[in-house]
Amino acid sequence: MTLPTSELATALPPCDLTVVGGTGDLALRKLLPALYQSERRGSLAPGTRIVGASRSPLDDEGYRAVVRDALGVHVPAAELDDRAVARLLDRVHHVEVDAESPEGWHLLHALLKEGPRGAEPSERVRVFYLAVAPRIFGPICQQLEAIGVVEPTSRVVLEKPLGTDLASARLVNDAVGRVFAESQIFRIDHYLGKESVQNLLVTRFANTFLEPLWNSRWIDHVQITAAETLGVGDRGGYYDHAGALRDMVQNHLLQLLCLVAMEPPTYVGRETVRDEKLKVLQALRPMTPEDVDRDTVRGAYGQGVVDGEVVASYAEDLGHPSRTETFAALRVEVQNWRWAGVPFYLRTGKRMDRRASEIVVVFKAPPHAMFPGSEGATEPNRLHIRVQPDEGMHLHLTVKEPGPGGIRLRPVSLDLSYATAFDAVSPDAYERLLLDVIKGNPTLFMRRDEVEAAWAWVEPILRRWETSPRRPKRYPAGTNGPTAAATLLERDGRTWQEDDQ
Ligand code: NAP
Repeated sequence: MTLPTSELATALPPCDLTVVGGTGDLALRKLLPALYQSERRGSLAPGTRIVGASRSPLDDEGYRAVVRDALGVHVPAAELDDRAVARLLDRVHHVEVDAESPEGWHLLHALLKEGPRGAEPSERVRVFYLAVAPRIFGPICQQLEAIGVVEPTSRVVLEKPLGTDLASARLVNDAVGRVFAESQIFRIDHYLGKESVQNLLVTRFANTFLEPLWNSRWIDHVQITAAETLGVGDRGGYYDHAGALRDMVQNHLLQLLCLVAMEPPTYVGRETVRDEKLKVLQALRPMTPEDVDRDTVRGAYGQGVVDGEVVASYAEDLGHPSRTETFAALRVEVQNWRWAGVPFYLRTGKRMDRRASEIVVVFKAPPHAMFPGSEGATEPNRLHIRVQPDEGMHLHLTVKEPGPGGIRLRPVSLDLSYATAFDAVSPDAYERLLLDVIKGNPTLFMRRDEVEAAWAWVEPILRRWETSPRRPKRYPAGTNGPTAAATLLERDGRTWQEDDQ
């Protein structure tokens, strides 16, 4: 089995990477810093160029100044190397274009056709990263086609949100699909670029001890959490139309669930992993309105205290009342032989008491308490995979407490923290995924049928929430969500794992 990602050391082809939306938050906070890290590691091929495209009237020098400032803010000072910054800026250009007007696009055409310093344009891979709102994905693709820069080796990267429901996702996919073949479309979910998420595949399939236990016979339930301490900040305009279900569950949490639940592919290849993930999405038990009422919880943060500071409610952050959820918890079932009867509990929220994205696989308790006085003293084994922060894994076991005087049981954890276990610093998810796009490796990107299967499953929940008289339950900022989320598990005799100790 090979790792489902590029080996960063492997030579990349020379590339023209055009970031449409190059002056935006995503580009400046995530993409350019990721490209800087690739530059610092020497991963970018000679002649690779980065073209920012936006409506801003910037020439190359003006955009380089914007990028330099952004690197100063978003790259840790200890990792800023003046020579690497200069090398990166040397690759950077800007073209002024408007997705909704044909003017300006000839400048992009001229730049891409001419190629850098005499390099053959035909040898270069073209990547178009659409870091803009999805409603202009279609118009941008049409402009790219009209100026004749889309070739069979070209690729397009799409950011979430891919639609707001199944119908709108299909429209976005159709619009992009009119210009790019499915094999050229890379739908990014940065969770899949995380070291620990890929390690989940390796842990499951490159070891023998787990796989025989990875089923309903030995696993009691699975918890998947993505909690943030931040509120909506200045993204309220977008978020209030999305909410936690669209923003986090439909994509990130369902993708994590797929990786936990999928069958072993025959090998890790460009389609095989995606085929297996799709089967999981298709096996999710559809929710009726009654299921939605019983098995889902939504919440919205009220005022509270986060990291010692008093913070405002969601409505105050927005400046108006809202019915949008900032928290969602769901009890989900995967209807297949392996997972029958094993609930998957998903939850995500803003303004929670801690920032943590994690998967906890809780095994069944031993069937018989054989140590005298140990009744109820053993905790079920847990495999705890931390996606962020501090990527790593804990395996919780019960051992004998050292010392004479009988056998006393004690829970301990075997820890693997990536930061301390390995000398090499893991690349950021965006860095890894960008390099995969340049290499043309789609394994860690979502295929159209996956995205649409996820929307098809989520949609009945959206519809029920829209029509239900119940409003999101308020939870104080700085807590772990509404009490109803705890009840969702308590009803099944379980509790959320609130820390990894
Ligand atoms: P943003 O800060 O508002 O940036 C939008 C970018 O698009 C700007 O560079 C803007 O530049 C450009 N733009 C807007 N309209 C344009 C047009 N008609 N033609 C050409 N360029 C245009 O937004 P963002 O936060 O970067 O987010 C971009 C997309 O990624 C959104 O769909 C967002 O939901 C998604 N996303 C963002 C993040 C994040 O962390 N920010 C994370 C995941 C997904 P001009 O105004 O100069 O044209």
